[in-house]
Amino acid sequence: MADRYIGRFAPSPTGPLHAGSLVAALASYLDAKVAGGQWLVRIEDVDEGRSVAGAAESALALLKTLGMQWDGDVLWQSRRGDVYQAAFDRLGALAYPCGCNRREIADSRLGTAPDGSAIYPGTCRDGLAAGKTARSLRLRVPPAGQDEITFQDRFAGAVTQHLALDAGDFVLKRGDGYWAYQLAVVVDDFEQGVTDVVRGADLIDSTARQIYLQRVLGMPTPRYLHVPVVRNALGEKLSKQTGATALAPLNEDDAVAMLHTAAQALGMRMGPSSSMAQFWRDALPAWARLLEVNGTD
Ligand code: GLU
Repeated sequence: MADRYIGRFAPSPTGPLHAGSLVAALASYLDAKVAGGQWLVRIEDVDEGRSVAGAAESALALLKTLGMQWDGDVLWQSRRGDVYQAAFDRLGALAYPCGCNRREIADSRLGTAPDGSAIYPGTCRDGLAAGKTARSLRLRVPPAGQDEITFQDRFAGAVTQHLALDAGDFVLKRGDGYWAYQLAVVVDDFEQGVTDVVRGADLIDSTARQIYLQRVLGMPTPRYLHVPVVRNALGEKLSKQTGATALAPLNEDDAVAMLHTAAQALGMRMGPSSSMAQFWRDALPAWARLLEVNGTD
């Protein structure tokens, strides 16, 4: 374990916290506590168009109700445009303006990246075609053959991705003017001194892009641990779109039941808890045991 540990939970306030978000919150919180480190909370409201008024505040209130108190001040991405711009400016010619719309990218038939985004064919790499205006800003990735990124996930072990084949030149600033998640997350993890990223496995396919950005910006790569994603009966990832219900504990028993459900989803082995205090007392050693059994570290 690193001598210094800074972890974080980084919800996007696109709706209320649901059972899936609680799993990521719990895992990141327990990992920080077991390591004797700090646990930060960052509100990823960089996509202001998708942010729902009041969702961030109720997420923060829920974390407190469940006994998860963060360290320091909450960081709000929507207030950090200047910081993202400064990082972007350092990329120089590695970044370039792109005039393609979604249709044009889909029509290129390079297919979709593992995370569902269309793989960009590189149309505007050498300059905007005549008659096109810049819509988004993209980062040049190395060509096939030099594009392999491997990292050690603390649960999954070695994970390899090929940036050119699996993602293509990816967006740093979107056509609608918002900074992209990939840039904001890398800059903020660095500026907050994050040493350990613990988050849902749906983001494992973003990790190689983030590591590449860290490298070109001269930032260290944190350790990564991706935890299982909670799915509904149809096998869909829980989200507002798939109808996940908001967590709203009515009383302490209810709160304890929610925490147990999240702990179970993580594969933690725990007996019943008669109070929230008991849940937290038992959860720390249960997480430490899970790391021993599943962990590659
Ligand atoms: N904001 C992302 C989400 O809510 C998490 C980003 C991350 O942990 O890197 O899914």
